[in-house]
Amino acid sequence: MKASRAKSRKEKRERATAYHEAGHAVASYRFNHYGGNLTIVPGGNVLGSCVSEGEWADGSTDIEQIIVLHAGYAAEERYDKYAKAPYFEVCDSSSCPCGLSELSDYEKIYCLMRRNGLTGEEFTSQETIRNHSLAIKARKIIDENWQIIEAIAEKLFIYKTLNDTEWSIIIDAFNEGDDWNACFESMRAFGNASS
Ligand SMILES: [Zn+2]
Repeated sequence: MKASRAKSRKEKRERATAYHEAGHAVASYRFNHYGGNLTIVPGGNVLGSCVSEGEWADGSTDIEQIIVLHAGYAAEERYDKYAKAPYFEVCDSSSCPCGLSELSDYEKIYCLMRRNGLTGEEFTSQETIRNHSLAIKARKIIDENWQIIEAIAEKLFIYKTLNDTEWSIIIDAFNEGDDWNACFESMRAFGNASS
C-alpha cells in the first residue's frame, strides 16, 4: 500500500515534469531557439541549452527566454489545473534556458526581468511574476500548442529522455498534418539503429 502510493506520487511528479519540459521545448521551438535534449531524470542532468552563451551574455533574446521559462510552469499548471506549479523549484533539465542551471526558473525570470528593467530591485512575488504580460504570453503559446505538448509529454514520460530530433519531429508532424506517433517512432528506431 505504502509502496504503491509512493510510486504513484513519483509517477505524478514525473508526468508533471514531462509537461513542464514539453512546454519549454515547444516555446523555444516557436522562437527558433535550439532546444537541446529533454529529460525528466532528476539530478543536474543538463544536456544542452536553448540559447547560446553569446545570446545569454548580450541579452538579445532575453524577452523570448522569459517567455520560454514561463512556458514550463504554464504547461505544468494546465496539465494539473488544481496545482499551481512551484515557481521555486529548480528545473535542472536541458530545456531550461541560460547556463545558470542551479537557479530555479523563477530566479532566472527575475534575473532577466531586472536586466531589462521590467521589475525593480524590490522582492517580486511569484504572483506578480505569474501575472506579468510575458507569463500571459507563455500561457497563450501553451494553449495554442496543447495537443503537441501532450504528445511530447507522453513520449517523454515513457522514454524519460528525448533528443532534439525526436521531440522536434513531433512538432513538425503536427505542423504538416502527419501522423506524429508514426513519425516519432520511426525517428526513434532510426536513431537507435545508427547509434
Ligand atoms: Zn523549467
